[in-house]
Amino acid sequence: MKRKVGIMGGSFDPIHIGHLAAANEVLNIYELDEIIFVPTGDPPHKEELRAHAFHRLMMVNMAVLSNDRFSVSDIEIKNPGKSYTLNTLIEFHKIYKNTEFYFITGTDAVIDIPNWHEPEEVLKLCRFIAASRPGISIEEAVEKIKAIRKRFGGNIEILKVPMLQISSTDIRERFRTGTSAKYLLPECVEQYIIKNGLYREI
Ligand code: ATP
Ligand code: MG
Repeated sequence: MKRKVGIMGGSFDPIHIGHLAAANEVLNIYELDEIIFVPTGDPPHKEELRAHAFHRLMMVNMAVLSNDRFSVSDIEIKNPGKSYTLNTLIEFHKIYKNTEFYFITGTDAVIDIPNWHEPEEVLKLCRFIAASRPGISIEEAVEKIKAIRKRFGGNIEILKVPMLQISSTDIRERFRTGTSAKYLLPECVEQYIIKNGLYREI
């Protein structure tokens, strides 16, 4: 039988409970063996108030410590230049044989697939599971996914997960303004942010 491995890409700036809860739900429902979190590399022009790849990777590592089915890959961070999901999937297929990949996104991210590099090729290499996320209705997501499948083919499903209105943007804003972000992200990640003075106004 094929192993079933989830991949969750994102900037994770910082990682929060929304990411972890969505990933866990996909793991449960699709009976995945493992989920690999893949933080993206730093964009060429990084705004202030963003954390460097080193810190983002550290925070993801800390956040997954308590789950032996969650792991982290630095594949996109350690490769110089812009990283494309397509290249990441090609590399993962080389490393993990006899494996079916499930690419996990939120519904906001999945409808952006037409803007990705070579969507058709990406869709051939994995199944997509889009976790419901506040901000975009299921109906709107269904419509857009229909259009994507018609244009590019592939397999994209929506999974209703406990919806958490949590975003990294909001969390960064809280640290910038000194508003508590407790319970929105793992406590160790919160402490790491404070200790390293991340997301503070400069
Ligand atoms: P930002 O506000 O900086 O965009 P974010 O909270 O959207 O941060 P990302 O790192 O952009 O986090 O997201 C990585 C992936 O996780 C995306 O596919 C996104 O849709 C998904 N995701 C993020 N937050 C949630 C959430 N609360 N529920 C479900 N999926 C989520
Ligand atoms: Mg986002």
